[in-house]
Amino acid sequence: MVMTSPTYDDVVRAHERIAGHAHRTPVLTSRLTDAEFGGRYFFKAENLQRMGAFKFRGAYNALSRLTPEQRRAGVVAYSSGNHAQAVALSARLLDVPATIVMPHDAPAAKLAATKEYGADVVSYDRYSGDPEEIAQALSAERGLTFVPPYDHPDIIAGQGTAAKELFEDAGELDALFVPLGGGGLLSGTLLAAGALAPRCAVYGVEPEAGNDGQLSLRRGGIVHIDTPQTIADGAQTQHLGAHTYPVIRDRVTDVLTATDAQLADCMRWFASRMKAVVEPTGCLGLAAARERSAELRGKRIGVIISGGNVDLNRYAQLLTAPH
Ligand SMILES: *Cc1c(COP(=O)(O)O)cnc(C)c1O
Repeated sequence: MVMTSPTYDDVVRAHERIAGHAHRTPVLTSRLTDAEFGGRYFFKAENLQRMGAFKFRGAYNALSRLTPEQRRAGVVAYSSGNHAQAVALSARLLDVPATIVMPHDAPAAKLAATKEYGADVVSYDRYSGDPEEIAQALSAERGLTFVPPYDHPDIIAGQGTAAKELFEDAGELDALFVPLGGGGLLSGTLLAAGALAPRCAVYGVEPEAGNDGQLSLRRGGIVHIDTPQTIADGAQTQHLGAHTYPVIRDRVTDVLTATDAQLADCMRWFASRMKAVVEPTGCLGLAAARERSAELRGKRIGVIISGGNVDLNRYAQLLTAPH
């Protein structure tokens, strides 16, 4: 793996590597939606990606760049969610042994899916252990290649392929709204937008309780926060990365936030209007776009639906909660 800062060329090469392995997900449109919000809306449906989120793009790209020796030795990653499944599935497809460090109380469905893909799961106590330390130790002891969840040029380039497809399929856009956790998806998107849609305004959207990206932008340096309490479990990151932050700082239009109540409301909206199961984190883009529908009137708006992995009991609860 090469550690120089990623460019749009890397996104193009990542797109070639994942072709035939990742889905080219559909771009959903709806006349009712356009009439309701007063613009033209294009939803990139990464909830329909393999394993249920865009994370497969980055993981598959990163793993397919390993040397034969690295492939034989295997990879290690830590995650309680989509990155775990993305690395486990990519590893199975590329015949690479995978070890995933997951909290002992990770959602049963995610744990089961990760094991089903053939990964070795190492559990740790969420309240006393540091998963990155454990993964780094396993990497050192067993010679495994560490695959970070967002802060790596190959991960960033892979995640940028979703926006590349969106611009290719939807054409010119005036604004694009992108969920933001550690910034892999947003920085990759910004590289694609810079080459394919330089006039498009690109917004990162974070949970209001975890607005470290917004603070970082305002203060001009990476801000660390405690793990935020939010239903957007895919964006509970504590800080942007050394690779993602500079791309975001230099290229993003702004970073916006959405509340848990807005996310739950967008989950209901996706279910009823688009017939789409979207996890809370996947709703960040729409939540921010919808708040601004008045100023976006008449424009062409892109929204990345980043994932659809949500435990069904939890989903039912969130859909029926009083609002
Ligand atoms: C990981 C994830 C995000 C955040 O992506 P980053 O690259 O960490 O910013 C957003 N949505 C979903 C569904 C995710 O799994």
